Amino acid sequence: MTERLYYQDCYLRTFTARVIETADEGRRVYLNRTAFYPTSGGQPFDLGTLAGVAIREVIDEDVRIGHLLEAPLGAATEVAGVIDWDRRYDHMQQHTGQHLLSAALEELFAIRTVSFHLGSEASTIDVEAPALTAKQLERVEDRCAEIIAESRPVQITFEDAASDLELRKASTRTGTLRIVSIHGLDRSACGGTHVRTAAEIGMVLTGKLEKIRGITRVEFVCGKRALRRAQSDNRLVASIGRALSVPAEQTPDLIAGLIEKNKSLEKTGQRLATELARREGQDLYTAASPGADGIRFTTQRGSIDDAMRARAQAFVAGQKSVFLAVCDQPPSLLLAASADSGVHAGERIKAAVTASGGRGGGNQQLAQGSVPDGAALAQAEALLR
Ligand SMILES: [Zn+2]
Repeated sequence: MTERLYYQDCYLRTFTARVIETADEGRRVYLNRTAFYPTSGGQPFDLGTLAGVAIREVIDEDVRIGHLLEAPLGAATEVAGVIDWDRRYDHMQQHTGQHLLSAALEELFAIRTVSFHLGSEASTIDVEAPALTAKQLERVEDRCAEIIAESRPVQITFEDAASDLELRKASTRTGTLRIVSIHGLDRSACGGTHVRTAAEIGMVLTGKLEKIRGITRVEFVCGKRALRRAQSDNRLVASIGRALSVPAEQTPDLIAGLIEKNKSLEKTGQRLATELARREGQDLYTAASPGADGIRFTTQRGSIDDAMRARAQAFVAGQKSVFLAVCDQPPSLLLAASADSGVHAGERIKAAVTASGGRGGGNQQLAQGSVPDGAALAQAEALLR
């Protein structure tokens, strides 16, 4: 059984221990005691070194803790462990911040936390609420800031599970429980590492919300992460303001206005493109000479879009005319015919594309079809000429 030194002292950064057993050719090490925290309860494992060898992972194996090393340990029987303190202290800030955030949500809105995940960028809690408003989150952040400003002590005690523990979330464990308390606010059974006072949390800043089947996932950051997040958000907002040449606070209105303007420009652009295509269709008709059958025929290559349809309709608005459009990607065709042409566009397209393994149809004046590939397209085109 490995004695967990972090249970009593979360601020222990170095320690010595006896090697009890090694496995995996000395890369997996068991000690009589350790200050390395193994992944559990939503908090990731510690990094650092053991006898100068870098730790890769720390695993909770129930009664024992396995230390996975980057290289074999060697023959040492007594080893010194050094915790990567920046990483650990960050985890302590996020984890204690989670207790505070969950307690504040419960105190203000009776919203319970069901799970916690400490991530490498941001952490999340899942709470029993279908939704949360921005106003609620602001109040929760304000309440957290009050407790932090009061520097309330965060204490670890060991208490009997059979007694009335008044925990925020009941524990299913028996025997002695490790209780982590934020003075006057929260009592939770927890095996994780925590800071000594709420002041060390620095700040609780919430982020994105995600709805998952009646549960809301709330992103948050604490400590230095909150400072970094605020700094990067400020830089981002300032750069948006500079790009738009207005003070940052005017950017939301300006962006909304630009989106509206863009929509209206897009509509105008489409209208002009259709008008241009219509005139192109008229010019093509004028330029085309009637064949021996008296029909003016043209083939156009390109996308079969609104512009191509407008071009086709303008062309066949002239007497005795047939317009064929061929598109390579996706392989497709459009056929338009004037009412007096004697050609039924729908029937002709259907026959040509069906013979080429495709499908399509339409009415007498306008029809479209698609075929599987380039060879089929060439075949259908030949049939339509
Ligand atoms: Zn905890």
